[in-house]
Amino acid sequence: MHAPLTADARVVIVGASLACLTAAETLRTSGFTGTITVLGDEPYLPYDRPPLSKQVLTGVADTTTTQLPHAEDLDVDWHLGQAATSLDTDAKQVLLQNGERVGYDRLLIATGRRSRPWPVTAEAALDGVFVLRTADDAAAIRERLTDATRRVLVIGGGLTGGEIASSCSSLRIPVTVVDRGPAPMAKLFGTAIGEMMRALHDEHDVDLRTGTGVTAMLGDDGGRLTAAQLTDGSTIDVDVAVVAIGALPNNEWLAGSGVTSDGEGVLCDAAQHALSADGQPVLDVFVAGDIARHPNPLAGPGVWTSEHWGAAVGQAETAAWNMARGTDTPHQEVPVFWTTQFGQVLKAAGEPAIADTAQITQGSLGARSAVVTFGRDGRLVAAVAVNQSKWLPYYLAQIKAGAAFPLEDPTVDPAADTRLSAAR
Ligand SMILES: Cc1cc2nc3c(=O)[nH]c(=O)nc-3n(C[C@H](O)[C@H](O)[C@H](O)COP(=O)(O)OP(=O)(O)OC[C@H]3O[C@@H](n4cnc5c(N)ncnc54)[C@H](O)[C@@H]3O)c2cc1C
Repeated sequence: MHAPLTADARVVIVGASLACLTAAETLRTSGFTGTITVLGDEPYLPYDRPPLSKQVLTGVADTTTTQLPHAEDLDVDWHLGQAATSLDTDAKQVLLQNGERVGYDRLLIATGRRSRPWPVTAEAALDGVFVLRTADDAAAIRERLTDATRRVLVIGGGLTGGEIASSCSSLRIPVTVVDRGPAPMAKLFGTAIGEMMRALHDEHDVDLRTGTGVTAMLGDDGGRLTAAQLTDGSTIDVDVAVVAIGALPNNEWLAGSGVTSDGEGVLCDAAQHALSADGQPVLDVFVAGDIARHPNPLAGPGVWTSEHWGAAVGQAETAAWNMARGTDTPHQEVPVFWTTQFGQVLKAAGEPAIADTAQITQGSLGARSAVVTFGRDGRLVAAVAVNQSKWLPYYLAQIKAGAAFPLEDPTVDPAADTRLSAAR
């Protein structure tokens, strides 16, 4: 328990994106009338990232239409286009790139993640090699997706990689996906859904190469990407490559602050308080969104990162309510997230990535209409609905209730094959 926010308190939020906007809105909903200052390194008001790999790449939307809506009377002091470079928790100040110091009574760290860059710097610098995290990234890739594009190489077959491949395919641009794993998205959703995704790639003429990596990207004399050499011994002609090999936390600015990070993000407790080096909550500093390493009741001991839209929203709400009221209410929401690829909607509840066992409980993956449930240590920890989103609330309730795995309740359209399989 700590002091609730007073009417003249100063709240500072670092990182101007989804978690930030949610926290600011929640603070105002709670009745907080003090100042909210947002420090963001991008020059834009908070915008939505999920459309970047989908509607923006396909040209259905552009980056001017993906701004997250917010109330006109939110009354936020936006400082955009300036990165925070350090945090002084004793003086309660954030230092900005331009030397300015911004004082706070409560701080929310919401600096999210950035794309993991291609590890060979000279290759990453080739004209035509991209990552996809920001609106500027999406606009730059979109500009290169034209009738003249010979082939796009997507490095990484995870959620983002699959969405990029799907977007290219819908534009009828030849695309190759390489992934070191056994099937697309297998790391997250397991091999059964992974094999369904493989079939979808095939049906959409995507050149999918699993168990394969990139050994080199080659450029011409002008530094423009021309080809890529793969671990299967082949060389493919490409003029665009999108590196989609995961993300890194934006936590360097917190070095020496007393707020603790591990290699994957900033540690926090269930109430979203940042933790000090000795594991104690730093009561006036909160963490939310993709940057947060939080306890996960589904996964047992340890800390986890939930890099999903719904988790960022839920954590930001918890942080803001605790900040406003001086409470330590734990964040216990089960994450729900989604992906759309090749015309299919996959919606997930829980944490499939932590599961040890999987079971198809409804429908059929071959028919692209199914629910796959995931268990860990005999407990239901996740469900993924393939074009069956209407069923997700049922499974979500089961996950929240701590249901045993495999589920005992018969469902209305049980799968033909309900054998248990390894999750991965
Ligand atoms: C292409 C793409 C597609 C996605 N699709 C889906 C989807 O379909 N479904 C889903 O559930 N999720 C999806 N996500 C994930 C979702 O968008 C994220 O979980 C969400 O954006 C996290 O919000 P956040 O506010 O925590 O962090 P972020 O959105 O990462 O924002 C952090 C902000 O902080 C800024 N920042 C960093 N360092 C500093 C600093 N030192 N000073 C000031 N500002 C700083 C960053 O530039 C950024 O603006 C997608 C993400 C991407 C990139």
